Amino acid sequence: MAEISVAHPAHPPTPEKPRRRCTECGEPSGSISQGTGFPLVREKVSGNFFHVRCKPGTRDLDAVWSGLERMGG
Ligand SMILES: [Zn+2]
Repeated sequence: MAEISVAHPAHPPTPEKPRRRCTECGEPSGSISQGTGFPLVREKVSGNFFHVRCKPGTRDLDAVWSGLERMGG
């Protein structure tokens, strides 16, 4: 597979940044590319953070996962 770079020019790595936790399962956010789990997404309505798979009523899974697959390489 070709290596695809993800454009995040204004997002330098900040390892000391406190992790958010999933409101549903309580697991901290992670990075698929680093093998530490799954990133969290913010629910617009409540402002809470959820894993993509934990987020209730998610109807955009296809779009979200297509993005995550690119990130996960
Ligand atoms: Zn979760």
